Amino acid sequence: MTPDTDRNLQLFQRAQHVIPGGVNSPVRAFKAVGGTPRFVSRAQGAHFWDANDKRYIDYIGSWGPMILGHGHPAVVDAVQRAVLEGFSFGAPTEREVELAEAILKLVPSMDMVRLVSSGTEAGMSAIRLARGATGRSKILKFEGCYHGHADALLVKAGSGLATFGNPTSAGVPPEVVQHTLVLEYNNVAQLEEAFALHGKDMACLIIEPIAGNMNFVRASVPFMQRARELCTQYGALFIFDEVMTGFRVALGSAQSVYAKAIPGFEPDMTVMGKVIGGGMPLAAFGGKRAAMEHLAPLGPVYQAGTLSGNPVATACGLATLHEISKPGFHEALGRKTQTLVSGMTRAAQAAGIPFCGDSEGGLFGFFFFDRLPQNYATVMTTDSKRFNTFFHGMLERGVYFAPALYEASFMGAAHTDADIAATVEAAAEVFKTL
Ligand SMILES: *Cc1c(COP(=O)(O)O)cnc(C)c1O
Repeated sequence: MTPDTDRNLQLFQRAQHVIPGGVNSPVRAFKAVGGTPRFVSRAQGAHFWDANDKRYIDYIGSWGPMILGHGHPAVVDAVQRAVLEGFSFGAPTEREVELAEAILKLVPSMDMVRLVSSGTEAGMSAIRLARGATGRSKILKFEGCYHGHADALLVKAGSGLATFGNPTSAGVPPEVVQHTLVLEYNNVAQLEEAFALHGKDMACLIIEPIAGNMNFVRASVPFMQRARELCTQYGALFIFDEVMTGFRVALGSAQSVYAKAIPGFEPDMTVMGKVIGGGMPLAAFGGKRAAMEHLAPLGPVYQAGTLSGNPVATACGLATLHEISKPGFHEALGRKTQTLVSGMTRAAQAAGIPFCGDSEGGLFGFFFFDRLPQNYATVMTTDSKRFNTFFHGMLERGVYFAPALYEASFMGAAHTDADIAATVEAAAEVFKTL
């Protein structure tokens, strides 16, 4: 492909004149891995096509929402019908009630839920609510967990920020983050120390239970159990950010995975996004009735949105939740993901490349490293040179993984055994070149 014929390159150059960096979300710019971002022209099932009409097996799925694959007929039908009824009303609809009921049925730790339009908005609102409900200011988060780009959370955040090597974003005054504590993920001693020092002032602890914004790192069961105990002891709200894991790692989301290991385990609040919109802008936060009743118009914590509970987005979300609720959906998805991760691991071993991977349901990650990292600092010591070469080798062979080593990957119901076999075969070829 020459510059004269490469439509991706032409579009990227054109985009850079009118959009900062040529993209509307930083990781799409390929800054971590170099090269030209692929401009997507269309997608169907487990595949998308770029501006040169090259086909890729898609392991991003819009960073999670497309769990059914692109263009699922039941979802397309629901969206088409909704569009004909109207795009947006700014007044309540029955479908919002239906979606809220569907979410609460699947995630019983929540008594009530509020619908919003992005994960950022949901996380920011959940924290405001936690502060309003407890009358406290301090919040606790973990390095490498991403909870959206609200000012108070841009403290050594993972994901996009890490690419540019900044621990925090410019434009966020120090006073705005002075109440945000950032601890190491999976570090029980630090957690205990932080609560001993600040527990009485702590409004909430927010965590990605299985962190997908530092590739794929699970919170250990003892760490999760201790966090739950400390939040209860000190009266801080335990917030699960399940924007990525929600309805993806299991039908009951990551909290159901931890409830299997810790009897009776529940977070106090949950933040949702990605899958619940099925690819439309939709997110949510919810929790116990006592906390949620602090929210306007019932209580003094303000939160609002012109497009919140949008009728087309809720139709898309409802149809998606309906499909993934069918018996055996997540079991089949989980088996496929495991097949891919173990196939890639075997191929790397055969090529003598240090490599390991992990998965839960339709979420997975892999590292050029000899063991699974337990925190962000370790993730960032894994072999980035090998990752980048691998990424481009796979891209050339028509397999699209996340363009940064600190991002997770996503399996969808539309991926076939043939897609997975082709991916493993391509990986085996690329491993030999590393
Ligand atoms: C994607 C993500 C967010 C932010 O959601 P947006 O819809 O991009 O604002 C928040 N938390 C987690 C865990 C995420 O993966």
